[in-house]
Amino acid sequence: KEVLRLDKYLCDMGIGTRSEVKTYMKKGRVTVNDVIVKEPEKKIDINKDLVTFDHNKVGYVSYEYYMLNKPAGVVSATSDNTCDTVIDLIESAARKDLFPVGRLDKDTEGLLLITNDGALTHQLLSPKKHVGKVYYAKVRGVVTEEDVRIFREGVVISEDFKALPAELVILQSDEISEIELTIYEGKFHQVKRMFEAVEKEVIYLKRLSMGILKLDENLAVGEYRELTKEELLSLK
Ligand code: URA
Repeated sequence: KEVLRLDKYLCDMGIGTRSEVKTYMKKGRVTVNDVIVKEPEKKIDINKDLVTFDHNKVGYVSYEYYMLNKPAGVVSATSDNTCDTVIDLIESAARKDLFPVGRLDKDTEGLLLITNDGALTHQLLSPKKHVGKVYYAKVRGVVTEEDVRIFREGVVISEDFKALPAELVILQSDEISEIELTIYEGKFHQVKRMFEAVEKEVIYLKRLSMGILKLDENLAVGEYRELTKEELLSLK
């Protein structure tokens, strides 16, 4: 939307809650085009109007898109009572309504897209779209060609859940094996459960890509950056 209420504008940009923002306005702390405005319902054109709060310009950002190299130890949620969330890591966020596109387990690292774009999120997560996700894992146990075959046919995880066919590539087969796995769905603990089904244990897990979006190798664990225009266009 190009036009929105002033109180929503300020609230979206993290100035305060809707009621806090209204209080600030009553106190004359908000201007639009150099005039103090006290009406929360005033319509703002995000491309034309200049909004300030305490004399500082408040630009409006409709959508944000970040690629995070998720570290272990943070949860893929927007809020948590005890743990840091992936959203807490995005310190340069303008909007306060960002969320992770899907979830990685607390102990999983790697590619996580963080945005407030619900339509894009749906495209990436909808089971019907079959977006491939590539994981790198270290697995306790010797991963074999038999496992590759089982995963290709769809590993049976429980009575009511057979995984979709998945591509398992063995990088190293040993007591601790290293693999890459591409899956086309994202059930709870999916990769870990697939290996459990063949009696092996995932001891390290990292997501490398999601659809055409690849984890930027220059991002250290815990770092993030905005998606480039090219990345965004290719996702949409
Ligand atoms: N599969 C898992 O088991 N965990 C993740 O975090 C992602 C996929």
